[in-house]
Amino acid sequence: MPPPTRLLQPFKVPIKLLMGPGPSNMREGVRAALNAPLLGHLHTEFTDIMDDVKSGLQYLFQTNNSLTFAVSGTGHAGMECALMNLLERDETLLVVQNGIWGLRVADLAKRLDLQVKVLNAEVGKAASLEEFSQAIDDFKPKVAFVCHGESSTGVMHPLDGFGDVCHKNGTLLLVDTVASIGGAPFHADKLGVDCVYAATQKVLNAPPGLSPISFSEMALNKIKQRKTRVPSFYFDALELGNYWGCFDEPRRYHHTGIISLVYALREALVGIAQEGLNECVARHQQNAKILYSALDEVGLKPFVEDPALRLPCLTTIAVPPNIQPKEVIDHLMAQKIEVSGGLGPTFGKVWRIGTFGINSDRDKILEVILALDEAIKSASGLAD
Ligand code: PMP
Repeated sequence: MPPPTRLLQPFKVPIKLLMGPGPSNMREGVRAALNAPLLGHLHTEFTDIMDDVKSGLQYLFQTNNSLTFAVSGTGHAGMECALMNLLERDETLLVVQNGIWGLRVADLAKRLDLQVKVLNAEVGKAASLEEFSQAIDDFKPKVAFVCHGESSTGVMHPLDGFGDVCHKNGTLLLVDTVASIGGAPFHADKLGVDCVYAATQKVLNAPPGLSPISFSEMALNKIKQRKTRVPSFYFDALELGNYWGCFDEPRRYHHTGIISLVYALREALVGIAQEGLNECVARHQQNAKILYSALDEVGLKPFVEDPALRLPCLTTIAVPPNIQPKEVIDHLMAQKIEVSGGLGPTFGKVWRIGTFGINSDRDKILEVILALDEAIKSASGLAD
């Protein structure tokens, strides 16, 4: 068999401005870190780097949890790892569902033979503390799931008081921060979050492939008291916690760590530490305001009506009547600008603009809105 001819052609990747829901553009320092020489996955120099990553993640999540590390895999890996470890077959999971990620978690949970109860919130809105509290009373779940940054709708779900409600009922609070961490206020310990996971390819401006995760003491105790083994070896949090040096015991080989991605994550966390987490979040909030006023100037509206519920690092924009959203997206893509359409319940209704990390930048935002406005005018036949 001859070698595939395309493989022998020069390898060319275009440079695009990635202002969709992720991946975002990579930061220069992160790219440089990817080029560092490989080390073995148990070499002291590498385990020292893992330790740096662990403390950087504790800072990012604002937690003292010792069981804090990065799962090898994208955001879905963190999601599966959380569910597989925190719950056993037939236990009840409450899912707050206001977009695609609640649906996805419910799907994964059913595959694990969990009992899934759903608290539905309207698309573009969030569940109130009262509704959440009632659902916890009604279903007495072992774990309750909330997506902090619903990237399909652009909603930032409030979490104040959710941890207390959970803990009064012996429920663990599980939160998805894939699309929000670093770009919206989040304090795992203050909020009483028992398990939180994220991903590297959004605010962190690193390549996809690692899913930061953290388990509270209560979550760790529940895992230790399991009657059945975690159904996945790869996602077993106690095994992973050992490899990441989270317990006072010698590290064992579990799997070959994704060496270069761990370097990249370390460098991404250095960026957050240098800017300061609060400053980083504040920058996302300020630039979101610039985005809203730019939208207003061109006659577009954010899809999430309540400003308090808008995710600062990902904005959904309502598609005006008689416009084909895909036509506009294609027009922008021809200029190497990525803006995305809706997903799940927002499909065909919104555009999604991610302003993650280095892309939370005034000039980039104004460039994208200008291009979006021109693309809409061209799609509606109003172009000069
Ligand atoms: N949760 C949220 C909120 C997300 O936005 C995403 C990805 N867009 C995921 C989970 C899944 O992450 P991944 O695609 O990295 O597996």
